[in-house]
Amino acid sequence: MEIIVCIKQVPDIAEVRINPETNTLIREGVPSILNPFDEFAVEEAVRIKEKHGGTVSVVSMGPAQSEKVLRTCLQMGADGGCLLCDDALAGSDTWVTSAALAALIDKLTYDLVICGIETTDSSTAQVGPQLAEKLGIPQITFVSKIKLDQGGKKGIFTCETDTGYQVLEARMPLLVSVIKGINIPRAPDNKVGRAKKLECVNITDLGINPEDVGLDGSPTMVVEVKAAKPRPRSHLVVDSSLPAHERIRVIMNGGIQHKEGIKKLEGEVEGLASKVGEYIIDLLKQ
Ligand SMILES: Cc1cc2nc3c(=O)[nH]c(=O)nc-3n(C[C@H](O)[C@H](O)[C@H](O)COP(=O)(O)OP(=O)(O)OC[C@H]3O[C@@H](n4cnc5c(N)ncnc54)[C@H](O)[C@@H]3O)c2cc1C
Repeated sequence: MEIIVCIKQVPDIAEVRINPETNTLIREGVPSILNPFDEFAVEEAVRIKEKHGGTVSVVSMGPAQSEKVLRTCLQMGADGGCLLCDDALAGSDTWVTSAALAALIDKLTYDLVICGIETTDSSTAQVGPQLAEKLGIPQITFVSKIKLDQGGKKGIFTCETDTGYQVLEARMPLLVSVIKGINIPRAPDNKVGRAKKLECVNITDLGINPEDVGLDGSPTMVVEVKAAKPRPRSHLVVDSSLPAHERIRVIMNGGIQHKEGIKKLEGEVEGLASKVGEYIIDLLKQ
């Protein structure tokens, strides 16, 4: 069973800032981590290998520092890794990223490709599905459980949907994107994987034309980036000129008109009294 896991180095989310001129993330000088969703993908691949045998290779397209997160995957039990790194790739959108990854993976042997569901820096969830299309293999997304048959040639895959879940049977080769919660990723063991080798390739090795990649080769343009507006807080509004006990009585009698954004308290007197108490404590804290 040959498994390839696609992983991405992402900026530590607490530190992310946007360049107002280019509308792209400022990644320089920001600490980087393995995309948290990809930890589930690596863990799942290693578990499959432990059960069915075979190898796990991790691949990433990114800057040279991505070697660090590839090493983390080796410490989690992956057997080898390959970094696709080239200055020409900077600024690539998901279309170009998936095309470049497909060019790399096409040169490798695989039965199963596993992706995380999304990244924490761009969160498009497009790379997995685009990659499957470009490799010309079937895909199952939002996978929460994988059960392969003994020979590893086909498997049963449970995937989450908006309304519940589906159970699908599929044959290899196949690409799946796995969701958070499919497993509990193990901690990297820094005594493991020191001797394992990482390979580096560039676009020339893959026969990719520099004009087809990077910002210029990317069909996506970020036109504008806006901060989300904070949601207005809603409060119970009671005539503040009333003494406290009167205000409580008004609330408990349901004596205020229902207005949009105002929560009307309903229920048994005891329950209501404690809710009102909490409300008053909140008011005093403000
Ligand atoms: C104009 C523009 C410029 C950009 N410039 C840059 C840039 O300079 N540097 C940069 O890092 N990003 C850049 N991005 C973002 C970049 O396009 C996306 O981060 C990248 O294509 C992956 O998309 P995503 O993060 O939404 O991944 P998703 O589609 O949310 O990721 C899903 C899964 O795909 C796999 N995956 C995603 N990305 C990679 C990868 N690179 N290697 C291996 N597996 C992967 C992982 O398994 C991941 O869990 C740019 C985007 C735009 C639109």
